[in-house]
Amino acid sequence: MLLITCPVTRTAELVADRRIRSVVNHPTHIALHVECPCGGVHVYRTGRRWESARRAAAARPAPELTSA
Ligand SMILES: [Zn+2]
Repeated sequence: MLLITCPVTRTAELVADRRIRSVVNHPTHIALHVECPCGGVHVYRTGRRWESARRAAAARPAPELTSA
């Protein structure tokens, strides 16, 4: 089972593993394509490196953009 937050209905949905259409491995994260009870297919990204990269990006206000 997998707990997802549907971007359409904005509710938490518990979906069965067989609802996972595909799992794509990327160097920084894993992309899960999940069939949602709302009828759509949503992509969820998971992985430690993905999370830390997102945190780092949020903490640092892109210095290359400020140096003109
Ligand atoms: Zn949905």
